[in-house]
Amino acid sequence: MNPILFYSTNLEAEHVPFRDALLKGIAPDRGLYMPTEIPTFSKEEIRSFSDMDYYEIAFAVSRPFLRDQIPDDDLMNIVKDAYNYPVPLENAYERKFVMRLDQGPTASFKDFAARMMGRLMQYYLKQENRNLLILTATSGDTGSAIANAFYGLDNIKVVVLFPEKEVTARQRKQMTTLGKNVQIIGLDAKFDDCQALVKTAFADSELDYLNLSSANSINIGRLLPQAIYYVYAFAKLRAGTDGDDVIFSVPSGNFGDMMGGLIAYRMGLPVKQFVIVTNENDEFPTFLKTGTYDIISPSLNCISSAMNVGHPSNISRVVALYGGAMDEKGNIGKMPDLDEMRKDMVSYSVTDKETEETIQKAYEKFELLLEPHGAVGWAGLIRYLKDHPEMDTPEQCFVSLETAHPAKFPEKIIELLSFDPPLPPSLADIEAKEESYDTLSNEYEDFKRYLKERY
Ligand SMILES: *Cc1c(COP(=O)(O)O)cnc(C)c1O
Repeated sequence: MNPILFYSTNLEAEHVPFRDALLKGIAPDRGLYMPTEIPTFSKEEIRSFSDMDYYEIAFAVSRPFLRDQIPDDDLMNIVKDAYNYPVPLENAYERKFVMRLDQGPTASFKDFAARMMGRLMQYYLKQENRNLLILTATSGDTGSAIANAFYGLDNIKVVVLFPEKEVTARQRKQMTTLGKNVQIIGLDAKFDDCQALVKTAFADSELDYLNLSSANSINIGRLLPQAIYYVYAFAKLRAGTDGDDVIFSVPSGNFGDMMGGLIAYRMGLPVKQFVIVTNENDEFPTFLKTGTYDIISPSLNCISSAMNVGHPSNISRVVALYGGAMDEKGNIGKMPDLDEMRKDMVSYSVTDKETEETIQKAYEKFELLLEPHGAVGWAGLIRYLKDHPEMDTPEQCFVSLETAHPAKFPEKIIELLSFDPPLPPSLADIEAKEESYDTLSNEYEDFKRYLKERY
């Protein structure tokens, strides 16, 4: 069989194999890469997943996309190395579950995507005997997810710039206690200044020799791994039975998470519906309802801060999946099949007030401990049950995604529930470790000299 090629959502770039899409990140026409074909599972295959470990399911889901590209043994090593932590499915009541995607090194679901992308990149770089320098600016969480995902990999070095006064001590420690191939630089500046230095470096041809990359969140290498945990949830909860299809509730910002779910669905995963839940940035629920897409700019500041997105970059992928076309600015060239989208998805926007009440109620009623992002997802599920009482049966299986660990939001949890949530092992470990990072001025020339001397 021929390898699966990847096209750009802007439809002007040529189709490329996985390696090129992965190492390029964004297509030359500024679109996002999507597979030209989505391989499907047979019923028997899906049933066979019920006895598998997470990494084995990761292998089974990614293998058909990478056919003819990465030998099975190598792919197995990649997924084994990436997924070395548990993925709990916590029962709330009846068959309503929360999937905790918060047990990775940074206690965020972004670990799932970033760790696999890092290892796939390492695979190709090693093979081609090339090196890459990942350069990224962070206001807190992205930098630590990237730094941890690439930590200890060969052929890849990471430099993270962060504003010293704008990140919490815990966020800083998640980056500065790593070492090895990860270099952290604190600036007495704002996040935007850090971002500006990074952008200038990318545009500086004197630094071309460094082979700079941004490990951007829209990389196809981050998208495909996000299909895996949907398959996993189904495998663990339903695959052994002939039961009904699962309803997933997904707290969403940039829509990478829900795109992963839609891909799993197209691969044949028995899903009844997706509940796509945003915070007050409600451009998607409005689009699904009215067919009109309006960017929210600037995006609204909600307590589920990782979802404060007024124009989700992955929305052009969603539109493409339903036969439409949308450019990176949000202009629709061709309408997607809205009726089909409405069959597969229900979408809600949840206020901060509702998010906070949900954290309280879920704990009181079910001893279910949620943080603001996961609470948005759970609130969406509750709304869905109200709107669709016929689905609210003890047999129907629901899975709501929890995307971060509550211990990452101690102030909020103390305020709402009056206790300090215990740290997961990954975060507890860093408290004892020694920090190390450099500091630099806000001058580009200083930063450039630093890069040239060290790399
Ligand atoms: C990034 C993030 C989200 C949103 O995921 P998308 O793929 O951008 O929709 C939700 N919760 C947390 C904790 C995140 O870090």
